[in-house]
Amino acid sequence: MRPRLLIIYTGGTIGMIENPVTHALQPFDFSHLMENVPKVKKLDYEIDNLQFASPIDSSNMNPAHWAEIASAIEASYDQYDGFVVLHGTDTMAFTASALSFMLENLSKPVIITGSQLPIGEVRTDGEENLITALQVAAAVDHRGDPMVQEVAILFENHLLRGNRSTKMSADNFNAFASNNYPELARIGLDITFNEDALYRVPTRRPLKVRLTMDPHVMFITLHPGMTEKTLRHLLATPDVKGFVLKTYGAGNSPSYEWFTHALAEAVENGLVILNVTQCPNGAVNPVLYETGDGLQRAGVIAGGDLTSEAAITKLMYLFGLGLPTDTVKKYLRHSLCGEMTV
Ligand code: ASP
Repeated sequence: MRPRLLIIYTGGTIGMIENPVTHALQPFDFSHLMENVPKVKKLDYEIDNLQFASPIDSSNMNPAHWAEIASAIEASYDQYDGFVVLHGTDTMAFTASALSFMLENLSKPVIITGSQLPIGEVRTDGEENLITALQVAAAVDHRGDPMVQEVAILFENHLLRGNRSTKMSADNFNAFASNNYPELARIGLDITFNEDALYRVPTRRPLKVRLTMDPHVMFITLHPGMTEKTLRHLLATPDVKGFVLKTYGAGNSPSYEWFTHALAEAVENGLVILNVTQCPNGAVNPVLYETGDGLQRAGVIAGGDLTSEAAITKLMYLFGLGLPTDTVKKYLRHSLCGEMTV
């Protein structure tokens, strides 16, 4: 049986092609994929395409778009062996994290890719990324089950767990990294899967898609010189229920009394505050220094080695489920789909 794959095109740089007459870059019509990327034919897969009515630059991505992608996957889940989502790179790690939470019990590959140069450019990385993403989505293990059963980002030489990924470079072809988790596959002459690192749902259950992500969350990034007034102002932002506090090093923050008080008060008032490190690599370790201890005493939750992208989308997902605050906090301490090391 030929692998059956669905490409979902959302927009981004990958979808641009040069008009042969005017030489201007214009959105690529993915319904003409085979004509424009003839190499895809050699894969001998059955490929269908679906595209956003108006493809977007991923800087405009929002939870409604995530719901559109998730719904498309849900609607055709049984028809396809795998899904390739074409997406701008700027918010790709947020989308990958969000989808990993929204697609509960996922047991098929959802491979997100894009490119730094338009697919219609001579030196494009888009063609290779697209073809490799299709190959990864079609790959099976020795039992014939999908090799990848999670949301992953394929970019240049790496296949990365989606909710562990971060965009690291604005111009390098190797633009993404998973700083706290091994790569799922190395893309070189061969695609070499790191089978021990691949996610498997603990118990096989039917796919359950959660479309509601609550946007009433925000980041607070610490910096030396932040005043009490600024911090209190941010914590009093109307309608915000949950904050991702981006702290220093191993989860450290100022140990001034006003700082700890402001956070403790916010927590007492029912806000959820999740501590992640500003460092691209490493984890929050609240007991390492006195400067991390205050946060713990204030009721701030340690986010371990969560990425910022996974932290903010996990809050959106948990609040979107309509859970009480205590249950949200409980789930923040657990890994739901491989997003953190516990
Ligand atoms: N601004 C573009 C986007 O994220 C950049 C890209 O596609 O790489 O949609």
